[in-house]
Amino acid sequence: MVSHEGIVTSKTNLINKGIKTMRKQIAAANWKMNLTYQEGEKLLDEILSAAVHMADHQHTVFAVPYPYLLMTRSEVEEDNTNYYVAAQNCHHKKSGAYTGEVSVGMLHSMNIKYCVIGHSERREYFAETNAMLAEKVDLCLESYITPIFCCGEPLSVREAGTQNEFVAAQLKESLFHLPAEKIETLVIAYEPIWAIGTGKTASTEQAQEMHQYLRSVLADQYGQEVANKIPILYGGSVKAANAPELFRSPDVDGGLVGGASLVASEFIAIMKALK
Ligand code: PEP
Repeated sequence: MVSHEGIVTSKTNLINKGIKTMRKQIAAANWKMNLTYQEGEKLLDEILSAAVHMADHQHTVFAVPYPYLLMTRSEVEEDNTNYYVAAQNCHHKKSGAYTGEVSVGMLHSMNIKYCVIGHSERREYFAETNAMLAEKVDLCLESYITPIFCCGEPLSVREAGTQNEFVAAQLKESLFHLPAEKIETLVIAYEPIWAIGTGKTASTEQAQEMHQYLRSVLADQYGQEVANKIPILYGGSVKAANAPELFRSPDVDGGLVGGASLVASEFIAIMKALK
């Protein structure tokens, strides 16, 4: 692992190709269906008042409920470089008679730059399939919205030892129709389902092992140079206490954070833990 202009590049990169990347590092908060509008404003105020500096290659992203998108955008993007807002979902069709849904075009018209796609809660409770997620990814990319594409295995798959095949299939079925110049603009979040909201974090070794594997799957399909550009975030009970060690892993490029993103001091520490 070496540093280049403050960027830590992966061992795999250096050993295989000697390529130095400017891979993005991201601290992404996922508020899920939590907080009232006023509580959200207060939390943002507390986090923003810490004025954590994001370097050129670092982004902080707040994935908030739809009704809070504009408020969050004006709060965070006003005075803060490299702070962004994300939607937590979007519909897989462009527009039409889908009462209660929100389209990518609507997000684009509100100048939203990121969208979480395929969170395991959406896959599980709303029956989102890999094919549907491929449609969402395409729509986002057409609108210059960066998908934060979530993947990850349930406990039964981990116990059976087939997590690599399971997660690789999620990538292949939702992403591998994309040309290289599009996939390299994506962010991937590996979130083992057994670690989400359970307090049970994957060990640093388990996270690094899977991230390195996912990068090798991307490299097999698109080449090492493209694979090296794609940030892979870890999600699953990330908190202030474990973020520094997780983020030190060469292929872990930050975190997608649920529970701990609702506590200002926790999320501030996680932002500071970016490498
Ligand atoms: C998540 O919401 O994506 C998540 C990882 O939640 P938690 O950090 O609470 O496990």
